Amino acid sequence: MAFALPLLALVALGPQFVTAGIIDRRSVLSVSDADWDAFNSSVSGRLQNGVPMLAPCYTNYNGQQQDVDSQVCDALQQNRANHLFVTDQFGGYQESNWGGCQKTGDNCAMKLTVPDTETPTSRPCMQGSVPTRYVDAQSVEDIQKTLQFASDNDLRLVVKNTGHDYTGRSSAPDSFALWTHNIQPPIELTKAFVPEQCSDAVGDVITVGAGQQFGGVYEWANANGYRVVGGTYAGVGMAGGWLTGGGHSMLSPELGLGVDNVQQIKAVLPNGKYVTANRCQNQDIFFALRGGGGGTFGVVAEISYSVHPKKDMQFARVAIDGTNDDVVAELISILVENADKWASEGWGGYVLMPVGRSSMISLGTSLLDLSDAQESMQPLFDLANRPTDGGTVGNASIATADYSDVLGGIIAATESQILPSSAWTMATRLVPQEYFVGDNQQQLSSTLHDIMIVAKGQKVPAQSTLMLYATTPYLYSQTMTKEDKVGGQDASSVTPAWRHGLWHVLFTRQFDGTTTDQSVVKNLWQTTHEMINPLRDLTPNGGAYQNEADPFEPNPAHSFWGQENYDRLLQIKNKVDPTNLLTVHNGIGWDKTDGKYSCYPDVKSSCPASGEPATPNDEFFGLPKLSAVVDYVETYMEHVTE
Ligand SMILES: Cc1cc2nc3c(=O)[nH]c(=O)nc-3n(C[C@H](O)[C@H](O)[C@H](O)COP(=O)(O)OP(=O)(O)OC[C@H]3O[C@@H](n4cnc5c(N)ncnc54)[C@H](O)[C@@H]3O)c2cc1C
Repeated sequence: MAFALPLLALVALGPQFVTAGIIDRRSVLSVSDADWDAFNSSVSGRLQNGVPMLAPCYTNYNGQQQDVDSQVCDALQQNRANHLFVTDQFGGYQESNWGGCQKTGDNCAMKLTVPDTETPTSRPCMQGSVPTRYVDAQSVEDIQKTLQFASDNDLRLVVKNTGHDYTGRSSAPDSFALWTHNIQPPIELTKAFVPEQCSDAVGDVITVGAGQQFGGVYEWANANGYRVVGGTYAGVGMAGGWLTGGGHSMLSPELGLGVDNVQQIKAVLPNGKYVTANRCQNQDIFFALRGGGGGTFGVVAEISYSVHPKKDMQFARVAIDGTNDDVVAELISILVENADKWASEGWGGYVLMPVGRSSMISLGTSLLDLSDAQESMQPLFDLANRPTDGGTVGNASIATADYSDVLGGIIAATESQILPSSAWTMATRLVPQEYFVGDNQQQLSSTLHDIMIVAKGQKVPAQSTLMLYATTPYLYSQTMTKEDKVGGQDASSVTPAWRHGLWHVLFTRQFDGTTTDQSVVKNLWQTTHEMINPLRDLTPNGGAYQNEADPFEPNPAHSFWGQENYDRLLQIKNKVDPTNLLTVHNGIGWDKTDGKYSCYPDVKSSCPASGEPATPNDEFFGLPKLSAVVDYVETYMEHVTE
């Protein structure tokens, strides 16, 4: 059967569409129709043109006028705020900037308000980084054939699952994609699961496909009396980027990361070989796929993953005024001073501090009874209940709750914070436990508070938020077997900073994805990148979570994996993928000159000390340095908006 999808809009772009780096592969458009047709037949007609999700609303797509189907467009307008709907569209990305080309300003986004009828009629929709063609894979054979075709034709290959990636690893200009989203066989429970070629059972395990999303897993778990370590978002994929990058959860303090819960992974390697990896066979692959990062070592087709009996949770919910700097400082101090104790009591959860707005704290533990939990949370409750002229500083509640209700509430709250079609910048740090004790508490508190003050002072067209995630497996890691611990024969490849860290700190900015002025986008990234530098300097032995990371992280080898893991991962990578078929930005074995990354803005990494022992800089925590940063940012903003 001939591959009949129209290519006109793409062809019309001409050569300027194909951006080239020093290393480059062949343009997708240079493959002959006959070759595409033959390939399409071999994957049962599952080859498609990649079209930006909102393109059907635009009157001009890639320079070609087109008719708008108002019914299709209305549905897109109504649903673009629905995060699950976005994951169901190949051309949809959770952070709209990764569907565009941030270096050139080309995109096909819409404004944050729904509906946006002005943008699609006033300027063209551009392909940006949405892959030009893709295979809607349904089977292991589809994966194998797609890898083979990409390799034979020397194409830029992208693996996309849900498109949640914060660092642009599931999109690339002029690329060919493998879409795993629809590989979703029914969830299968095995009691007393024995990994293949092992002899011992590892407890109750579910087996899911590459495209499985957490929403479905949580529904299944609730109905079957289990808890599952998973992302706090229904749309995130369980077996793709989340797992291969580490995977944290509100339950991680008690039950570990995703990589600690996966018992077996079946994956197609870059050479097409379908392998089973676990603690008893293909251990190198098992190591690499548990932290080495998505889209790098192979394509995960299926995972078998531990599930845990349901337990109630003591769940505390606190809101604190975010408009008063003194209150914000006090809140941060309370959180820092109690973090070590709370970690030892199994508290996990999220602190969201949108700059200038109320902070929201959601923390839960299954290791305390209600009265101990109340006592533990008292410092936070005292702050929330403190009287002010008009009422109290905030409000707080604590109760025993069913875990799935807690999760449902947090997911709904998180979703409400994400604006439709918004673009995001991000920079993060895993902060080791030692900064939460003794004199270090003061330094950490003031560093975090300075970030809030600097962010408040910056005139940027974005909503800035500092997030403090108590989702590290610090407590759990102390209970791991010798073999699973860092350096042990069954260890995973995530940075050891996860094991000795208490918080995953994120600074994010949400902005209007229709922005075509590259200098504005670049500045948002640059200032986001710099915002975390004080924390990088303070915690040279910390790390960063590769899935929720600054794409311009100064020393990714050190931050994402640690040198020892990195060295082993690089060796494995060279062995399983000598031609670098599967590469991602800042991933193991990536080459920054590859044209695949030509849409990343030119952000200057300005933290040379990161990854090396920091040079002490007392001034950094004092006001002179802080005001210097504010001045710098303001001058910079005036400069770029002139
Ligand atoms: C709203 C939101 C909430 C989040 N919540 C959490 C959270 O609670 N905990 C947490 O740890 N993280 C969270 N994340 C981050 C999440 O872990 C990353 O976005 C992750 O990359 C998503 O993986 P994905 O497969 O769903 O997405 P994609 O963007 O499709 O893929 C991400 C990466 O994985 C690769 N990949 C995808 N599928 C496969 C596969 N089958 N085999 C090999 N590689 C593959 C891709 O090539 C890409 O490099 C969240 C992100 C968002 C946007």
